[in-house]
This record gives sequence, C-alpha cells and structure tokens, in this order.
Amino acid sequence: MRDGRRLLLRTAARVAALAAAAPYLPAQARSAVSDAYPFTLGVASGAPLPDAIVLWTRLLPDPLNAASIPPIAQQLRWEVAHDEAFTRVAAKGTAVAAPALAHSVNVDVRGLAPGRWYWYRFMLGDAVSPVGRTRTAPAPGSMPDMLKLAVASCQHWEFGHYAAHRHIAQAAPDLVAFLGDYIYEWGPYSLQHPAGARRVDESFTLAQYRARYAQYKSDANLQAAHHAAPWLVTWDDHEVANDYSPTRDELLSPDFAQRREAAYQAYFEHQPLRTQRLYQRYDWGQLARFHVLDTRRYRSVHACQAAGRGGSSSVHRSACAALADPRRSMLGGEQEAWLAQGLKESTARWNIIAQQTLMAQMSQVPPANGKDGRFWTDGWDGYQAARARLMDAMRGARNPLVLSGDVHTFFAAELRRDPARADSAGNPVIATEFCGTSITSSSRPQARTQQYVDMNPGLRFGRSDRRGFMLLELRPDRAAMAFQALDEVRDPRSGLSTLASFTVADGIAGLRMTK
Ligand code: FE
Ligand code: CA
Repeated sequence: MRDGRRLLLRTAARVAALAAAAPYLPAQARSAVSDAYPFTLGVASGAPLPDAIVLWTRLLPDPLNAASIPPIAQQLRWEVAHDEAFTRVAAKGTAVAAPALAHSVNVDVRGLAPGRWYWYRFMLGDAVSPVGRTRTAPAPGSMPDMLKLAVASCQHWEFGHYAAHRHIAQAAPDLVAFLGDYIYEWGPYSLQHPAGARRVDESFTLAQYRARYAQYKSDANLQAAHHAAPWLVTWDDHEVANDYSPTRDELLSPDFAQRREAAYQAYFEHQPLRTQRLYQRYDWGQLARFHVLDTRRYRSVHACQAAGRGGSSSVHRSACAALADPRRSMLGGEQEAWLAQGLKESTARWNIIAQQTLMAQMSQVPPANGKDGRFWTDGWDGYQAARARLMDAMRGARNPLVLSGDVHTFFAAELRRDPARADSAGNPVIATEFCGTSITSSSRPQARTQQYVDMNPGLRFGRSDRRGFMLLELRPDRAAMAFQALDEVRDPRSGLSTLASFTVADGIAGLRMTK
C-alpha cells in the first residue's frame, strides 16, 4: 500500500472515479480556451459572516498535471442562489483566475441575508462547476436553537481514504472547522519501521506545495465535505514543514524563509479565506463565538532543541527551564492580547477556541506530583507559561470550549490552571477540551495512550486507535460532543460509529460522559 507504484495506481483510480462523478458536459458546451473540464478540484466556501461568505475554486483540468491549464488569466462567472436549481439568484459576478495564483479564486460575496442556506457555482465558458451548499452566520443578537459543527484535522493522503469526509457531508453540518494538517509536505513513509523512515517527495517549492493541494483536493469525499457547508480553517505544521517554528524547520534549512513563504502562498491559494491573517473571530449569533487561533506562525522557537537540529523533542521539565519561561509564547504577543480581549468582550453563550494542538497537559512519564514530567515540546506542553496565561484569559469567559487536532487522538479533557492537580480546591476546571483524532493520519498504540490518560489528571478519555472526526451539537443550554470513528480507514466505503459522547452544561465547565 505504501510503495510508490501502488500509490500512483491508486491515485489514477481516484481520478477516474472523480471523472465518472463529474457532471456530464457535451463537447460543444466546453470552454473555448480549453476542451478539458476545469473544475476537477471542486469548490469550497468559508469564513461566514451574517452578510457574507467566501467562495473558492481553482481551475485545473488534470489534478496531477499543473501544465494542464494554459498560463493565461481566465475570467470566471459565479452565482449564489437561494435554491439548488439556481432559479432564484441572490448574487452573481465575475472573478479572474490568474496563473500567478495557480488559477485559484477567492470571492468575498457581500450583501447576503443572515442565517440562510445558499447554493453557489462557478462557470468558465460553458463549463459549470459542481454546486456547493453554504450558509451565512445568524444575525447578530439572535439565539439559534442549535449549531451542528463538524471538526476535522490531519489528512495524510497516503495513510488511508477520506471516508470520514463522506460522513461529514452526510451529517449535514452547519459548519466545518478544519484545525490543520490539510496536506502533509511529504509522501508515504513506512509506519512499520519509523526509525528507518525515509521522507519521500518532501515539498520545498511553490510548485511542489501546489501539487500536493491539487492531489488532495482531487478526492471526491473531501470535495463532498467542502460542498456540504462553509468551513473555518486554520493550519498546523504540515502545511509547511514538520514541527516548524517561524524561523526554523527541522532541517535548519538555510533558505527556510523562502520555503515557508511558498507554503503559505499555496495554502492561501487553496482555502476559502477573506484575509491572510488566520486568527479571526466568527460569531454565530449569541450562541457561539469562535476564536480561531494560529499557534504556528508567531510562536517562539521550540524549547531546548538538540544541537544542530530544529523541530521538537521530548524533555523533562527539570532539564529544560525554557518550558516554563514566561517570555516564550505560543500565539505571539499581539494574538495573545487579541484573544484575551475577544474573550473579555464576548457576550456569547459559548466561547469556542478552535486551534491546532492538545492544550491539556500530557506528560509522557508519571509527572511526580507536578514537579517534573516529560513533555513534547511542539504542543502546548512546550509553552507552559503561555498556557497558564491563556487559562487566566479564559477564566472570566462564559463556557470556554477548546477544540484541538494535531495529535491524531480523540481526547476529552478538563483544563485547570494547575494541570498537574485534579482537586478543585483553588484549582477549578476552567474549560473543557475536545481533541479530534485524524481523518487518516496514523497514531501511537492505544496502550500508550491509555497510560497517558492514567498518568495525567486532566485527560479523561483518550483513543488513538481510530480515525474519524468530531461532531458537536451546540445548544443554548448544553454542548453535545460525539467522537465519530471509522471502522476502517483503508476502506473508502468505511462505516462509522460513535465511539464516545459527552455533554457540557451551560455554566458548568467539565465533562459528563454519555456513552
Ligand atoms: Fe497531523
Ligand atoms: Ca501537526
């Protein structure tokens, strides 16, 4: 399954399946510029406001061949309608797909009505894109009965099929939050022999990153999830390089700044985004305020890196003073102040912190009464003083709920100011955290994960042996979270079941397990 030849075969099979699913277009109706159907990567929408939505597409007839579109700008038309048949058009316009942006377009459609479902499509010549469904955020001040949110992350192409995305589409969520690792910068590597793992096809250039997005976006199930609802997106490390910080990749590449900028450009070419600042607030009426964070772009360099290497490691607190150094930051000063302000001013019933990586403490050895412990330096455990400041910022907010990805594990956790102590005397639960597993990316053995749960008082539940996504139903009086797990990630038709479910009641931080 992981050697290059079978990967190519499987890729070809996926593209063939996609072509079969694409709408039939009579030959005479195709674009005069190119005979080939240009919307093979589907469409997407995101960043919903009460009166606006961002629409995305990219023209590329062959997802595996960047040269399949001529290097000239093309003018597209777009339409937003009240109905799927486009009989009642609400807005329309044109947009230019330029080769400088890989023929991608982002359209910020304004003047829409709040809290409404819409359908949208693009046209080039007589070629018509697939139709996407999207919605605007509810009117400010309104209190929706319910928000259904799907939460996903980590979709390494080579580690399985995107059946989870098909199930996301079938769940018909109001909104999808994707919390990072939309692509991985490298190809397949051996899971059986991680020590001898060799990175294959690692991306460094703009062309390489673009090729990865095109490959991933060729997947019909991923497209279906985009076509079902608007997305809120943020990135993690693999959109650029494993465990990078703003100035360093693992390899300490001398031209890392160039690599990073190429990766950032490719990201913005492939996501429905209004601005290139990823940390943003989105309000869902009075029901929820989303604080979407960027824990990657502004962070301090990892603590206690080995000589001659960038990236992360696992270190004992007693051997790495930097872990607790208050000058180090996960968000950067500006974003940290912005978040504290946004929490303070929020009048929402629920404050959803949508961000990349596990916030709960996860020592890899018994933490010895909080005095020591061994911590992975890429996650919040590597930025412990910054995490304590965030706990203080969340303390006054109504119902803070943290959503996380990155660690390829379902975790349910309770967050306290002192994460080593489970007793509530002077150390109450401040926020509840739900960490999604991965769409496909592999994880550690479950026995190890259970040890982490047993050793760390904040972690109440952990499962790393299943892939899938999270489904949150948010109501004024409670949040109901379901951990949705695939039967088999290698099966594109895999079934799905609820592995565990939890509720959080309005006004009471902490978990109640319902399954
Ligand atoms: Fe990942
Ligand atoms: Ca990651």
